[in-house]
Amino acid sequence: MTQPTGTIFVVVAPSGAGKTSLVAALLDAEPGVELSVSYTTRAPRSGEVAGKNYHFIDRPKFEEMIGLGDFVEYAEVYGNYYGTSARWLEERLAKGRDILLEIDWQGAAQVRRIFPEAVSIFIMPPSIEELERRLRGRATDSEDVIRRRLAEARSEIDKVAQYDYIVVNDNFERARADLISVVRAQRLKGDAQRARHAEKLARMGTCA
Ligand code: 5GP
Repeated sequence: MTQPTGTIFVVVAPSGAGKTSLVAALLDAEPGVELSVSYTTRAPRSGEVAGKNYHFIDRPKFEEMIGLGDFVEYAEVYGNYYGTSARWLEERLAKGRDILLEIDWQGAAQVRRIFPEAVSIFIMPPSIEELERRLRGRATDSEDVIRRRLAEARSEIDKVAQYDYIVVNDNFERARADLISVVRAQRLKGDAQRARHAEKLARMGTCA
């Protein structure tokens, strides 16, 4: 891979922690951050748009892409494959773009191994009881699926020490502000700002 110049933000959360709404709010507030559109073998949910929410492909195609090394990371989550395009990521980083990956904990571990400088953020539900209440509130999942998701959430919370930042989603506005703060602070770091404002700094420097 070419030397990355942009920052990779990895956002992980147990199902029901409110990740999708928080990520949407973040992208709204920080238009300089681009969301990676993953490939998946899962069927589209109602309202989901191909190419926007996911690139929907079948299993044989996904497995062919694994063989070709097309994914920078991939994982099987609840019986479906999900993966991030290596070429897309490489191209965007080379252009100095900041990228957000909304992926599961297995993918986050793979990304961390390849890009140790990636910034990882874990979104935590306020409690297991609250998570259970939210999952039941969706009324789309069977009891079996809810049980599985709760067990999975506990095991994801056990791995919380692997993340650079933890945002607790007990209050949406607060969690939104916290998530934006993490991303904004990272984007304001000296290296990133110097690269972004290279010309301006050179001009100002000559006046000194
Ligand atoms: P959903 O089917 O609800 O959209 O996503 C299920 C899980 O797969 C979520 O935790 C989501 O973050 C994760 N996921 C989505 N895209 C990717 C990806 O490209 N790679 C990995 N490893 N996980 C993903």
